This record gives sequence, structure tokens and C-alpha cells, in this order.
Amino acid sequence: MRDCNAAGFFRMLELDMAAALPDTKPSIGVQSSDDLPTIHGGIVLSKYIIHIIIKSRTIYTFNTHHLDLSMLPFTVTATDGAARRGRLTLAHGTVETPAFMPVGTAGTVKAMTPEGVVATGAEIILGNTYHLMLRPGAERMDALGGLHRFMNWDRPILTDSGGYQVFSLAGRRTMSENGVVFRSHLDGSEHDLSPERSIEIQRLIGSDISMVLDECTAWPATEDEARRSMEMSMHWAKRCRDVFDLRDGYGLFGIVQGSVFPELRRQSAEALTGIGFDGYAVGGLAVGEGQQQMFGVLDFTVPHLPEDRPRYLMGVGKPADIVGAVCRGIDMFDCVLPTRSGRTAQAFVTGGTLNLRNARHADDMSPLDAPCDCPVCAQYGRAYLHHLIKAGEMLAGMLLTTHNLHYYQNLMKTLRAAIEAGTLDQFRTAFGEAQEAGVDGQNDADD
Ligand SMILES: [Zn+2]
Repeated sequence: MRDCNAAGFFRMLELDMAAALPDTKPSIGVQSSDDLPTIHGGIVLSKYIIHIIIKSRTIYTFNTHHLDLSMLPFTVTATDGAARRGRLTLAHGTVETPAFMPVGTAGTVKAMTPEGVVATGAEIILGNTYHLMLRPGAERMDALGGLHRFMNWDRPILTDSGGYQVFSLAGRRTMSENGVVFRSHLDGSEHDLSPERSIEIQRLIGSDISMVLDECTAWPATEDEARRSMEMSMHWAKRCRDVFDLRDGYGLFGIVQGSVFPELRRQSAEALTGIGFDGYAVGGLAVGEGQQQMFGVLDFTVPHLPEDRPRYLMGVGKPADIVGAVCRGIDMFDCVLPTRSGRTAQAFVTGGTLNLRNARHADDMSPLDAPCDCPVCAQYGRAYLHHLIKAGEMLAGMLLTTHNLHYYQNLMKTLRAAIEAGTLDQFRTAFGEAQEAGVDGQNDADD
């Protein structure tokens, strides 16, 4: 049987019946036998009662047992504590999890060629709906063959909903229950972003994984503010699900909101699982609350998410944040840190970060990070990278970004291997000790 979700499967069955019995107007009625309200949205609800209806009469009823028709095949292959080692199969390829997604804001991972991104080990990248809808524009993107073809990236792409950037346009947007009207930061032109339009844009872009439009709740927020914001996001999530086009290998993720309030996070997770999504993101974190509070939110949120669906922590983070979140059961991450840092002279290395602008690197021919197997560490010394930065050469950003993305992908590879081997605790301890010891055995304030 082909992999597709339940709603898609029943629709296919209906079409097949209609083709075989053209004059009888056959249809299929479906209800869950587990007292779940609906199969709409198509995540596994385990059991269904199926009615085959011809000429308004039910002619046959049968009960399925544990029908597993999830749209996006996701397999957890090993666990270690709460951490999961998994594999997500998408239209443009498979993604080994836990996975890190480099951010390709405007149809490019900045300072990198697509081949260079592949060479780091990345299997999926993130595209920004807000930037792409304004330039080059979603309809143009579609006419040009979609983002994969446009940017020469033939592997999976996840797009955000555009909401995060639009909500950060303070003073340039008006928001209502219906959606957001905003003015472009590029030319002042007026645009609408509703849940329906966000999903349409992501379809035109051709994303393997689309995200629901939500409001990233401001931090800090009172419990009342957080509740109002979360409840609106849940209404929007339902509207997104209703218009999402079901296609094999493509999926839609819901986003849990609720700020730092356990009861709101629980309600949000339950509202989303009631609707049914291909994966579940934890949103509204990495907005200034700090690592301990972020881990706290994961501790009381993740247990409410379905075990058989991927979990994505949006916008996170530093290497230590990722290690901690993987240990708490998160499968996917994205962050601008490795690429942005690469353009500002920062390198992620064993024990922390190096600032290559620092004069102490001027005579140092050692590699950025001795254990790193990337082409930059194999071929260039710190002194040369320091020189490129001082000289304002663009190669500096290219080489540092290459190394940083390798560092992040190597971290994910190590985490996946540790989960498989059941040695995640040892890895976490060793990683923490290395961070404590600092880079080159020092915690230089300038770094
Ligand atoms: Zn390297």
C-alpha cells in the first residue's frame, strides 16, 4: 500500500470506486470507532468504521483494525531515555533524526552553495515564507518550478508559516482573528497573511513540510495574554489543516504554544493532536526565556505529544540547547546561529566558540577545531581565517559557515550514534565537561 494519510487513502478509494461504478455515485463514509471526533487531518486514529454508500444507501460496513495510514512515514528506530533516533521519509528524500536544518532564508543558505550544504551532511533545509512571498513572490516561484528547482536543492525543504517575521514587524502590521495585514519591509506594499494564504504560499513554494500559521507569543506574557494568543493559534491551526492539500510525502506540522504555563501547553498539545498533524513543533521558545526555562517547558510539554510523530523545536539553538532538547525527546531543530556566526567571525568548536577576529589567532596555523573532519579544518589555519576577516574578504564568511555547519551536523551525527548505542548520558556528561573546560583549555572573555 502506498504511504498516505487516512483521509487521502479514503479519498483514493472513493475515486477508484467512482471509476469502476460510474453511474452509481459511490461514496465512502468514515467514522472512528475509538470515540474520536473525526479523521479529518488524517493522522492515525487506529480504528475506523467504514461505510460504502451507493445511491445514498449504505451497502457495506466494515471495521478496520489499527489502520496505520500516516501521511509522513516516521519510524523511531532506537530510544535512549526520552531521546529518539528516527527516520522521516519526505517527497524529496529521507531525514535521519535528530536532525538540524540549516536556515535558507531567501532561497539560499547564506555564503554556501547547495553542494556545500549537502557536503556538511544536511538532509533538509528551512525556507522562510515571509521573505520568499515578498521576493521573488510565491506565484512566480510556482511558475518557475518551485523552490527546489529554483535554488538547485533537490532534498527536503521545510518552510515556516511567515508568522514569526510578520509579527516582528511592529508598527507595520494589523492583526485580527482572521489573520495579519502588513506592509513589506522592502517596498511598503500591503500584504495579507491568513492561515489559508500561508498554506497556499507554502504549497506554491513546494515545501515538503509546511508549518501552520501561529502567533509566536511574546515573552514575557501574563497567563491571560498567553491563553488568548494560544487559543487564536489553535483556531488558525484548524483552518490551516482544513485547506492543506493532501499529497504523498508532504506534511503539515502543528505548533504548540502556551508560553511557560504548563496547563496552557497541555491544552495546546491536546487541541493540536485532536485536529491531527504529521508532526508537532514546540514554538514560542528561544525568545529570551533562557535555557533552564526552555528545558522546563520541554519537560512538561513533550509528554503530551504523540510518540509516533516527529517533534520539532523551532529556532533552537546553541549546541548545548540542542543536546539538552534531544535528551528531552526533540527530533528536529533549525537555527541561524551556525550561518550567522560564520559571517561574524565566530566558529563553533570543541568546548565553545572562537572569535577569529581576536589578535591571538594572527600567528596560529592550527586548525579551527582539531577533531573536525571538515575541508576548512583540513586545509586552512586560524591565522589565515583571522587575516581574511581583518581584510574584509568574503571567503572568511564562506569558510567559517562551512565549518560551523559541519560542526552542527557532526554534533547531530554523534547524538544519533549515542542514542543507538545507548550512551547518550555519557555523551552529555562529556559534552558538558568540554564546555566547562572552554576552548583550548581557556574561557577567554574575548571569545
Ligand atoms: Zn571544521
